[in-house]
Amino acid sequence: MTLLPPLSAPLAHTQSIRPVPVAVAMGDGIGPEIMRASLSVLQAAGAALEIREIALGEAVYKSGHSSGIAPETWDVLRATKLLYKAPITTPQGGGYKSLNVTLRKSLGLFANVRPTGAYAPFVATKHPGMDVVIVRENEEDLYAGIEHRQTDEVYQCLKLVSRPGTEKIVRFAFEYARRNGRRKVSCFSKDNIMKLTDGLFHKTFDAIAKEYKEIETDHWIIDIGAARLASNPGQFDVIVTGNLYGDIISDIAAEIAGSVGLAPSANIGAHGAMFEAIHGSAPPLARKDVANPSGLLLAGVMMLVHAGQPRVAERVHNAWLRTIEDGVHTADIPQDTPGAQRVGTKGFTQAVIARLGLEPRHLAPVRYGEAGPALAVPEAAPTVPAEKRTVGVDVFLHWSGRTPDNLATLLLPVAGGMELAMITNRGVKVWPQGLAETFCTDHWRCRFLAQAGGDLGHVDIVALLARLAGAGLDFIKTEHLCTFGGVPGFSLGQGQ
Ligand code: NAD
Repeated sequence: MTLLPPLSAPLAHTQSIRPVPVAVAMGDGIGPEIMRASLSVLQAAGAALEIREIALGEAVYKSGHSSGIAPETWDVLRATKLLYKAPITTPQGGGYKSLNVTLRKSLGLFANVRPTGAYAPFVATKHPGMDVVIVRENEEDLYAGIEHRQTDEVYQCLKLVSRPGTEKIVRFAFEYARRNGRRKVSCFSKDNIMKLTDGLFHKTFDAIAKEYKEIETDHWIIDIGAARLASNPGQFDVIVTGNLYGDIISDIAAEIAGSVGLAPSANIGAHGAMFEAIHGSAPPLARKDVANPSGLLLAGVMMLVHAGQPRVAERVHNAWLRTIEDGVHTADIPQDTPGAQRVGTKGFTQAVIARLGLEPRHLAPVRYGEAGPALAVPEAAPTVPAEKRTVGVDVFLHWSGRTPDNLATLLLPVAGGMELAMITNRGVKVWPQGLAETFCTDHWRCRFLAQAGGDLGHVDIVALLARLAGAGLDFIKTEHLCTFGGVPGFSLGQGQ
C-alpha cells in the first residue's frame, strides 16, 4: 500500500536534494521518543530536511497560551508550510482548546488522509486483505468547537457543514482514488437524521460522483457503515466522511488492521501540510521505551513524498516493511508470529535503520518514484447566492415551567401578527398535541411563522423578542427560518 501520491501543492514541485524546511514539534507523552526515533530513521535514509523545532502543546498551554501555540510560532509555520508533528496532550478542563484542531483549521488543512492496511501474516489481524484509506473532512462539523451552556439543564454544540468545505473534501477523495487507481469511494453520513447538514454531504457526494464514472460509489449510514468496516473492511476502498465520523472510524480501522500505533495521517491544504500519527500522546506509555514509532514514521514517509523526496520515502517505507516482516515488533503488536522479537522504541528504530536499502521479501515493495501526474488540491466552485426569504423564527427559551400548554398560554398573547406554529423540547414537538409521556427540560424551541406565507424582517423579530422579554420570558437564542430559492432551510420538529 502506497501512502500518498505527490500533490500539486506548493511543496510538491521539487525532486532535488535541496533541504526542505520543516517545522518539527516533539509533542507530549510518547511524542518526543517517537519523534526522535522517526527523525533518526528519516535522516539515516538521506532525507534532506532543514528542521526548525517549534514548541507546541502541554508546556505552551501551561505557560499561559490557552491555544497551545505561542503567537510567534505561527510565523515559522507560515514560512515552512510544512509541519511534522508528534502527538500532543490536550490538558483536561481549564478551557483549553485542542491544538490539533486549531492547527488544521487555522492553516486550512481541509483533507485528512488516513491509510490503514493489514500486514498479515506479519501483524496478526482478522482482516488480512484490508487496505482502506479514510479521507476525513478536517475543518468543520462538530469540531467547529462552538459550544454553549444555554440553560441550567442544556448544553449545545453546533454542527457546521459548508457547501465549499464538503465539495472540496469529496472532490479530494475522488481525485485521490483516481490518482491511486482505487476502484471505489464510499460516503459515510447520517443523513437519515441530519437531513440538512449530512444531507448536504451526501448530495454533494452524489453530484461529484457523476464526474468520476470509472469509480464505483456507495453510501452508508455511519452506524452500519462503521459496523461493516469493523466486520468486513474488504468491501471498502476509499471512504470519505465528516470530521467526527472520520476521527472515530479511522481509529477503528487502524486497530482492526493491527494497532492504532501503525497508522499515519496527512493533513493537506492548498497552502501547506501537516503530517502526524493518528494516535494521541498515550501518557501512560511515556518514557518507558515501549511506544511504537511506526505511525509517526509512516507519516514521515508521506511527508517526504509530499516534499518531493519519493526515493527517500521509498527507502524508509521498504525498510520498515522488511522490519515488520522480520518479526521485529513493539509491544502493541501481537507477537504470535514464529521467531517474532519484541523490542522497545529504540530497538525498533535501530532495526529499521539496519534494513535501509533492503526491500520486503513477501509484502509488496513500495514504489513512490514511479508516481504519475500530481494530485491537484481541489477548490470549490464559487457560491451563487439564492433568493433568500425569512418566513419565520425559532426562539429558544430558558423556562423552568414543565408543561408545554402553560408555555403556549404565555406565548400566544405576545405572538403579535405571527403564528405560533409549534413548541419543541430537545427537538420533539410537545405543542400542539404533544404526548404527556415526553420528558421536558428547561430548554424550549418556539417556532413563530409569518402569517399567510408572508416574510419577516429583522424589525419584526426584534419586536417579537421585546414582547417576549416584556412577558418575563428568557430568550437565549434565535434561529431565522429561511427559504433559499423556495427550498426550506430548516428542519421540521420531531413528530411534526
Ligand atoms: P492515545 O491514542 O494517546 O492512546 C490510547 C491507547 O492506545 C494508549 O494507551 C496505548 O495503549 C495505545 N497507543 C496509542 N499510540 C500508541 C503507540 N504509538 N504505541 C503503542 N500503543 C499506542 O489516546 P488517548 O489516551 O485518548 O489520548 C491521550 C492524549 O492524546 C489526550 O490528551 C488527547 O487529547 C491526545 N490526542 C492527541 C492527538 C494528536 O496530537 N494528534 C490525537 C489523539 C489524542
